[in-house]
Amino acid sequence: MTEETIKKRLYHVSVKDLAEFVINHGDIDYRYRKSATAIEGIRAHQTIQKRRPNDYLAEVTVEGIYETDDYIFSIKGRIDGVFLDKEIPVVEEIKSSYLAMDEIKESDKFTHLAQAKIYAYLYATQKDLSFIDVQMTYVNLMGFHEESYLNHFDLIQLSEFYHLCLEEYCAWQNKLFEWEKKRNKSLNDLEFPFKNYRKGQRELSVSVYRSLLEEKNLFLQAPTGLGKTIGVLFPNLKALAENKLDKIFYLTAKNMGRVVAEETIKIVLESAEIKAVVITAKDKTCFNLDKACEPDSCSYAKDYYKKLKDVLPKLWENNLFNQQTIEKLGREYELCPFELSLDLSNWVDVIICDYNYVYDPIVYLRRFFDDNKLKYSLLVDESHNLVDRARSSYSAAVNRDWIKKIKLNLPENHNVMMESLEKIDQQFKSFKKRFSKSIKFEKVYVDKVIPRGLVTPFNSFIAAVDNWLADENSFEAYSELKEFYFEVNRFLKMRDFFNDKYRFIFDFSKKNWAINLMCLDPSQWIKEKADASSLAVYFSATLKPFDYFKKTIEGDCESYDVEFDSPFNQKNLKVVVNTEVSTKYKERDEFYGVAAQKIVEFISVKKGNYILYFPSFAYLEKIKEIFEEQYSEINLLSQSREMTVVDRNDFLNSFHDTSEIIGLAVMGGSFGEGIDLVGNRLIGVGVVGVGLPMVCVENNLLKDYFDEQYHKGFEYAYQLPGIQKILQTSGRVIRSENDVGVICLIDNRYKQSSYLKHLPKYWDTTMLSSNNRTIKEELSVFWNQNNN
Ligand code: SF4
Repeated sequence: MTEETIKKRLYHVSVKDLAEFVINHGDIDYRYRKSATAIEGIRAHQTIQKRRPNDYLAEVTVEGIYETDDYIFSIKGRIDGVFLDKEIPVVEEIKSSYLAMDEIKESDKFTHLAQAKIYAYLYATQKDLSFIDVQMTYVNLMGFHEESYLNHFDLIQLSEFYHLCLEEYCAWQNKLFEWEKKRNKSLNDLEFPFKNYRKGQRELSVSVYRSLLEEKNLFLQAPTGLGKTIGVLFPNLKALAENKLDKIFYLTAKNMGRVVAEETIKIVLESAEIKAVVITAKDKTCFNLDKACEPDSCSYAKDYYKKLKDVLPKLWENNLFNQQTIEKLGREYELCPFELSLDLSNWVDVIICDYNYVYDPIVYLRRFFDDNKLKYSLLVDESHNLVDRARSSYSAAVNRDWIKKIKLNLPENHNVMMESLEKIDQQFKSFKKRFSKSIKFEKVYVDKVIPRGLVTPFNSFIAAVDNWLADENSFEAYSELKEFYFEVNRFLKMRDFFNDKYRFIFDFSKKNWAINLMCLDPSQWIKEKADASSLAVYFSATLKPFDYFKKTIEGDCESYDVEFDSPFNQKNLKVVVNTEVSTKYKERDEFYGVAAQKIVEFISVKKGNYILYFPSFAYLEKIKEIFEEQYSEINLLSQSREMTVVDRNDFLNSFHDTSEIIGLAVMGGSFGEGIDLVGNRLIGVGVVGVGLPMVCVENNLLKDYFDEQYHKGFEYAYQLPGIQKILQTSGRVIRSENDVGVICLIDNRYKQSSYLKHLPKYWDTTMLSSNNRTIKEELSVFWNQNNN
């Protein structure tokens, strides 16, 4: 290499990526075509390779170098095989599928051939050949039947094709490189995009940056108001400019977190050049919700890839691809908005998306995580939600009710389908018979292994569906069948993960029997994603005790942790704890009246807006009845079980500066976190109970598991998840530096240090009991001092 060449930046590109970028010009088509898994594909390749003659070369690595003024592209790939027994060598590209060759889309075949032609060119130049043949072989996974066709090329044809591909690819890459230079310059010059750092905010950013340099993950607790989003994002943006990172994933659990991240990016964009995409769920952004994602039904799916390539330079003029922009561009260029957001994620600097796109084993973005060539960071907002979300992503359940519903509405003459459903139903019945003997009373069977007999009927059902669902979509049970198909598929997929951190549960205690593969501990898979990244930052206002979160999120305690106090004046918040009420299930009846009385005392000291949180809807209803009978002057607004997004917004919009509303809600429900009622819109929160999750089979299994693992079963399965809910609901009161408010915690379990020790040290907390000051006395002093 010359000195000049050494200065150039090296860029690796796989033959597959090159061919797909340049040649891909088909439709989006998510019709029910069962696709091969990676393992099935490998097996098919090996089977075909074994059928070849002795001198056949399998898995041949090829490489080419292509230089531009600033960059060197190293193009690499592995040929499936080369026949040497012919007059001229034949490069073979093998593709496996459940479809026959004539069912495979022409556009896909075109891309496959392009890939093979690039392989052939690289092989021919390596071996100094003037002619070479290319054989495309399609192997059907049902029986490994193969079909092939041959193409004959000379080196000049292949060379022209190869260089055309590279020119097109490099033109786009150069655009990206130019962008990267511009971005890096602007990020290098970027000052912290707010006037001043808030108290603790600079230290927060420094701890994030230090973790990146030291290749350690970070658990970070920082209360509301410290400016966590920009505090965490800022050092990551700086790392982009220094080429320490290629991409930032900002992961959110709820819509509110996504909105805050997007707003923060908008502020950064006022003084820096970056590109960001917000990925919105398909059902929230699709233009044709009632249609299938295929070209005959949806015009946004038709010719999607060709249209995208044609308008890509135009799209690139934008910097923030949020839902609004993506939908506008989607309509303008007739592109599916959901697919567009995914494709844009390939090239932008920051991806704002739900946890699912990283942590769900089915939904995750394979393009980044299967063959990771990037240095990326995972910034996990509100990470106190992560374990629960990952646990449910790695679990799967199949309910018997589906089968009954589908059988009722299935069109006639679908005997194969009917038989396959019947077999699953038989399996449910035989499980009931078998397991009833071992568990006489509970009617819930639990095992550490998946019992035999289940997988075969599920596989037969999937095969039956795969054979005809693609073409039959107009019968009554279609959507139910589709959903059941996805459930069964998920179930079969989770079987691959099933290990000692899982339990098999067969629940026939209710009318709707269910089979569940319950993941107790998803930490190994969360850790896997963290290990593949350059940095994972888990942050939240409530992420303590760190020991608990580190063990449940990453399975160990190796990562750094750091905690920050609230930047707000602590004199603005008063917390009182009343210990006269028991909320234990068996004692509740005795205490509803006392609880209502204490609440009334709490909200009477100062008129204004309050939200009161209860352990359940049943508890809420009891208190509501007492209020309606005895305190009818109180202006109540109550959460209900079936609230829509509109109802929820109406509920929150009722709280305004001059109203005097007493909201009733349940802990852990939709008003338990992520609501921001600033100033007088909320001056107090009352929390009855210690938030313990419901006692049930699943939570008891968690308890047993954490007992085995850490000797902390009750603490990890019940107590700490409960405390999290208390802290999240309490965190609704002080949302800005000018907020003044009160919290009243009611439960006699606060007498125990095991509960009390988890309340934040920076709170001004007073314990009250029947023999000292009353809630009214204590809060009167506070409100007199803070009479605003
Ligand atoms: S617009 Fe909707 S229906 Fe059409 S391809 Fe996109 S997601 Fe599918």
